[in-house]
Amino acid sequence: MHEIREDIGVVLKKQRYRERDVILTAFTEKHGLVALFAPNAIQSKRFTSAIELLAVSRLRFDSKKKFLQELGDDALHRLESADSVYELTSLTSDPEKLGYASLLSELVVRSLPRERPLEEVYRVFGQALKLLNEVSIEECANIAASFLFRLLQSLGVQPSLTRCGQCATPLGGDTGAELYLMAAHGHWLCESCAKARDPRENFTAKLIRAEALVTWLPSVLLPIRQTPRGIAANDSRALLGALLEHAQFHISGLQSQNLSSLTYLKEMGQPIL
Ligand SMILES: [Zn+2]
Repeated sequence: MHEIREDIGVVLKKQRYRERDVILTAFTEKHGLVALFAPNAIQSKRFTSAIELLAVSRLRFDSKKKFLQELGDDALHRLESADSVYELTSLTSDPEKLGYASLLSELVVRSLPRERPLEEVYRVFGQALKLLNEVSIEECANIAASFLFRLLQSLGVQPSLTRCGQCATPLGGDTGAELYLMAAHGHWLCESCAKARDPRENFTAKLIRAEALVTWLPSVLLPIRQTPRGIAANDSRALLGALLEHAQFHISGLQSQNLSSLTYLKEMGQPIL
């Protein structure tokens, strides 16, 4: 008895298993994150480029119970076929863009539960990858920040962005000011509240220019395609870094070990944290 399922998904992780087999992690539209066992994938040509990293592919996989037991992992499906739907060529050929795409992939793999359909997150993830594929490198951190905010929203742990967490002043009031993210508290402080704090107090804070936050803020309400452009790359990276620091506090899957894509981005001259 077979139980064949078909779905479209993005390949996020590819690990060699035994001599000739491969285990993939894919983020799919209808099944969420799934682990797929691709037998004989190292030598066989039948999967071709459809199982490469960041490939967007139509995947057919078999979830029959016996096979699952044999492999000792109840969440591993056997990949029957994979056909490329489209390729994000500029992402995979540009080392810096690849770093941002890898960061998004790592965030998805480490943050989301397995086998739970999350169609809205999948849709936004697909759009974010397409955008990274199209825009210049200067816009990539901005797009990544917009995606990360939506990921935080889908998990219900997004920071409060509009008012100071202490005095409730609107954060965009003084665009020349600098804002401090209190990652552990999930809110930002205005400059005067941050400066009034006892400097001996041990608080982790991430600094960002209010002007950058105000320019970026509409992207929270707009479709990700309409993320405001033209924010200075330094500001975008600071914003992305602040949201990442927040995410590491509030998402358990991100606390255990560092994200390897951040080390890679730093080596590529794109320091985030
Ligand atoms: Zn304040």
